[in-house]
Amino acid sequence: MCDAADEAQLTLANGLRVHLHHQPHAPRGAALVQIDAGSHHEPEAWPGLAHLLEHMVFNGSAAFTHHARLMAWVQAEGGRVNATTQAASTAFFFEVSADKLADGVARLVDMLAAPLLTEEALRHEVTVIDAEYQLLKNHAETRCDAATDYAFGALPAMRRFHVGNQASFGDDIPALRQALWHYHQRFYHAGNMVLWLQGPQSCAELAALAQQFGSAFAASAPPAAPFALPGPINLPYGFALACAEGAACLRLSFWLREWNARDAEALMLLQQLALDESQNSLLAALRAAELCEEIRLLNPYRTAQAAIVTLEFSLTSPDYAVARTTEAWFLHWLAMLPALSSARLLHYASLARRAFWRLPPLEQLRQRAMGFPPPAKADDILLSWSHLLPQLTERQMTRLWSAEQAATQEVETQGFRLPMRVLEETPASLPVPVPTLGFFTPGRALTPPTLPDASVPLTAIEVPGDQPVLLLRPAFGAMVSDAQGYLMQTALRSVAGDILHRGGQLLMAEHQGVWYFQIRGEAALLPVALAAAIESLTALSGAVYAQGERAWRRAQRADVSIRALLSLLPRVLRNETHDGPPLDALPQRGWEACLAGGDDALRQQLAHLLSRFPGQINQPQATTAIPPPAGQQHLLPAVEGDAALLLFCPLVENTAACLAAWRLLALVYEPLFFQRLREQQQVGYVVSCRFHQSADRAGILFALQSPRYGIEALLAFIERFLAEVTHDLERLSEAAWEQKRTTLRNALRATAADSLTRAREYWQRMRHDTPSISEVQLAQCDRAQLLHYHQRLREQPECRVQLASAPGFLP
Ligand SMILES: [Zn+2]
Repeated sequence: MCDAADEAQLTLANGLRVHLHHQPHAPRGAALVQIDAGSHHEPEAWPGLAHLLEHMVFNGSAAFTHHARLMAWVQAEGGRVNATTQAASTAFFFEVSADKLADGVARLVDMLAAPLLTEEALRHEVTVIDAEYQLLKNHAETRCDAATDYAFGALPAMRRFHVGNQASFGDDIPALRQALWHYHQRFYHAGNMVLWLQGPQSCAELAALAQQFGSAFAASAPPAAPFALPGPINLPYGFALACAEGAACLRLSFWLREWNARDAEALMLLQQLALDESQNSLLAALRAAELCEEIRLLNPYRTAQAAIVTLEFSLTSPDYAVARTTEAWFLHWLAMLPALSSARLLHYASLARRAFWRLPPLEQLRQRAMGFPPPAKADDILLSWSHLLPQLTERQMTRLWSAEQAATQEVETQGFRLPMRVLEETPASLPVPVPTLGFFTPGRALTPPTLPDASVPLTAIEVPGDQPVLLLRPAFGAMVSDAQGYLMQTALRSVAGDILHRGGQLLMAEHQGVWYFQIRGEAALLPVALAAAIESLTALSGAVYAQGERAWRRAQRADVSIRALLSLLPRVLRNETHDGPPLDALPQRGWEACLAGGDDALRQQLAHLLSRFPGQINQPQATTAIPPPAGQQHLLPAVEGDAALLLFCPLVENTAACLAAWRLLALVYEPLFFQRLREQQQVGYVVSCRFHQSADRAGILFALQSPRYGIEALLAFIERFLAEVTHDLERLSEAAWEQKRTTLRNALRATAADSLTRAREYWQRMRHDTPSISEVQLAQCDRAQLLHYHQRLREQPECRVQLASAPGFLP
């Protein structure tokens, strides 16, 4: 865990502000640059300019072009990279293995300080953004965001077009390029930027890194003028927005006129309180009354002086009365917050901090820069809280109720046509009965459960970690369907909420297409948590079944075709046949269970308790393995008007040699696939190829989504790519091979920083049906062997699983 000594801040001579976060033992490092300018800063004549520049800087810079660019380089290194343009800020960020952090920072800084902005790249990115706009037009979340902003029309930029498209950029490429240069000069200089670095390097090493590269930014020009904010703005009562069936929600948005940066820390606490799912919490009460399923906290607008904070409630029905009651309960809950004691607030804040430290490095940096970061000192949260809370008043609040057929007349805003209407004000004094709501009281004692006489065999494994972890997963050949997984998850929600308060964690979740039941916590907590979980699972009420089905349906809903296909993949690989939820049964076919860490006394207790767990535990299975669903094609109706294709190529043999080859091939394919199909041939806006594990199967996954081509054409693109890449494999230099091997070696050696993930990965590697790659196999995997497996991948199409969606298909 990090404390204040592990972080540092400095300002370089050129004015660049730098935040450093030393994270001991972290296998990966991350960097983020934030520019204090976003869509609201772009000239009115050029809608979309800020977004366009965000795209353009990835297209090559003074020192790094082609394969050396950040985008291509990070992909080849098996890292992650992305960027986002917001109302008043823009951020660029990446994550790679820690030893490569400096190489990445060099590229990131160069592309922001010295982008080439060539006309050729500009022409290309205009078409990319136009395609993105076509996609976003139908994207439910984007539409809901635009409708949320609409209520803040007192700020003129809130209704302006920001995404950009072919029409807004026009055909005069030199003029567009000039406008980009101008915008870049005005805002992309050291005084208007913040650099964040995080990694296992010491703060001194990180500071040296920042010095070495951060000095490349142009010294501060005169500071960008802050926004002239209007005085107190009169918020409308609210709006109604028509949305897709089954996607009803209520958004309550607050205008925070007194915002300062520290309020973001208080939002971390507000989020923890609002999303608490333990007994008597707001969320538990809303769920029990079948009003709302999930709550999200959003921060759609943030400048140095003001912000908008939104609470989103996903509603169970399009009935307006459900939205009204939800709002009344929330406001009642909000009114309880000022009375919370410091001890309680600090308790909730400690839970949020714990969750923060479990995030991957890049997520931590994103939270620090743009989200809800933890305070440097725990007690500081109380001060921020007392500053935030008085700003959350009903007077400073506006509503967006979104439901099917909630409105018919269209409003044009941010370049979207939205069916919206003004929401009629309803008297606040509606007689809505409010349930008893409560907050967790720290320090309540635990009562150890009574142990049954029977017991089951329970495997123990040794995994380095701070707390013991109990893991259950479906036995070999058995499976937990999505419907069953969501049913169990729903049944366990309130127990999970309580365990979180006691310093542990209970998680029923799908990882790589397999549903795991997982508990971690102190040795005294684990048996209590397991007993409570078993009690919930063995007494499923009708209400829980209904909630489980709703959770399952929500998970099925995807507003991007490729995501719908991705969530279908594990179901296809598991040979899940039924389309509907089996509302009668939990999985009975058996579980494998193990305890990672902990002593024998704990193992004994859990072994006795598990005898009551629904389904058999660690019993020799009479079942055979699920047959591989090879050569199958599955079709889904398209969500939007374009075609999407997922092609999964599992290992052609279940050996370590094949696995090593597959992983190396994926490292070769990944950057080339993106370059050729996305950048050169402009096939579509989703173009990806990577090594992928799902439902206990390893393979290479190709994903394409395109507004221009049909499924057959997309498939032909992949086939042609695979044919052409043979040539690349033959030509690849020895040095390049060695680099791929090193990247893979690092990936195999990396252990997850989070103890739960670590325990799961250890167990997965130990299981008999999973080959693991040794150093010898890696060395043996030479060019000849890779070419051999590459040919087999190409020549065995009957092994592949193909999922597709296109307009006009019926399920
Ligand atoms: Zn974009």
